[in-house]
Amino acid sequence: MNINILDTNQLALMDQLISDANTVLVVCHKSPDGDAIGSSLGWAEYMRLRGKDVTVIVPDQYPDFLMWLPNTDKIVRYDKHREKCDMLFKIADLVFCLDFNTPSRVDEMEQALVSTKAKKVLIDHHLKPDVPADLVVSQPEASSTCELVFRIVWQMGAFAQLDKAFAVPVYCGMMTDTGGFTFNSTRPEIFQIISELLTKRIDKDRIYRNVYHNYSEDRIRLMGYVMYEKLVYMPEYHAAYYSITRDELKRFNYIKGDTEGLVNMPQQIKGLKLSISLREDTEKNMVWVSLRSVDDFPCNLMAEEFFNGGGHLNASGGKVEGTIEEAIEITKKAISAYENKLK
Ligand code: 5GP
Ligand code: MN
Repeated sequence: MNINILDTNQLALMDQLISDANTVLVVCHKSPDGDAIGSSLGWAEYMRLRGKDVTVIVPDQYPDFLMWLPNTDKIVRYDKHREKCDMLFKIADLVFCLDFNTPSRVDEMEQALVSTKAKKVLIDHHLKPDVPADLVVSQPEASSTCELVFRIVWQMGAFAQLDKAFAVPVYCGMMTDTGGFTFNSTRPEIFQIISELLTKRIDKDRIYRNVYHNYSEDRIRLMGYVMYEKLVYMPEYHAAYYSITRDELKRFNYIKGDTEGLVNMPQQIKGLKLSISLREDTEKNMVWVSLRSVDDFPCNLMAEEFFNGGGHLNASGGKVEGTIEEAIEITKKAISAYENKLK
């Protein structure tokens, strides 16, 4: 299987950086998703195999549908253990930055990350990487950072020595970043990688259930409520959006992660090209925005232009510093501004 992604120089440099390091950190973006957590845990396994003293640090809470992943108990949260993490950034020899393209994506941890004297390696699949690093592995065409982690580990000849503790999180991140292999996952290498991961005796059906069949009753009812009461469908634009207020979140006993994936649902309407979710923050006067599109509709450009955000061609996010009403107005403007691409 030829799935190598590093050129000869990168391969040598990666190996050298790892060989030279003792204390290693693996960090990912705030509000980490399956790919961020999966790639961090998988890479940390590889670091353990290389005999490193490795710590995974995440900026803040990760969703509870990922808590079952092996070794999550070893993950350190920056928001909860700031002093310890700052100290680790000071003494680390090498920091791996996984699944983010720009330092501000690590939120409160940004200062610690940019001021560390450790060498840095970026492994990511977002556009326009600008994390200052000694080695940058950036492949926007990759399905996920987990795919990149697999390919590097494979190229470095370490896959045979790794077990489930590597294969489970890596499979999980590839699965979540492709919506269960329903988008951005048509290249044959992806399924070659999956077949290799399966040789480690992972139970992919169970991984699917652990992630996607993990809803509370409240979450299912919130989903029904939003789709029934709140969805605004604009058939002439092949677009739909919905908004959820703080009070509505309260009514359904919202906990972090409950709205995850909701934005994908309107995509099931025949011919829909764009789906937008607007969710009021539970405390601050701001609105979180998620965008999903199909084919060549660039929701990342819309996120940059209208929602102070960005992301991938078909999955992006951002925010509006304002009220939910303002966010709705901006959304309407954004949809009509992209009329030509939507109609
Ligand atoms: P989600 O809708 O799941 O929050 O975000 C979807 C994707 O959009 C994420 O994987 C991430 O790549 C990107 N994204 C979300 N929020 C932002 C943001 O504020 N800035 C940028 N550049 N990308 C974002
Ligand atoms: Mn990702």
